[in-house]
Amino acid sequence: MREEVALACLAGRRTCRNCGAVYHTPFNPPRQAGVCDACGGELYQRPDETKEAHSHRLQVYQQQTAPLVDYYRFAGRKNENTYFMYPRTNICSGEHG
Ligand SMILES: [Zn+2]
Repeated sequence: MREEVALACLAGRRTCRNCGAVYHTPFNPPRQAGVCDACGGELYQRPDETKEAHSHRLQVYQQQTAPLVDYYRFAGRKNENTYFMYPRTNICSGEHG
């Protein structure tokens, strides 16, 4: 289980105040730190994304998304970028499937 990846994703999440675009500092940073690529708005870290919230989301991730990780590890085993891209998209967007 790549908990470190999930936690880094959640901790690095930034949301645009203006348009709601989501960035991830470790994986998908904006071109200019703190500034939305799409609209130039201010990026912020949601105050409810506490350690407790991270822990809860990680549990949800493990229960609902971990099977997908196994699938993508198999499907993308010749392409590490593909393997990492799919699970982190699910985690960071809060969407499952
Ligand atoms: Zn924006």
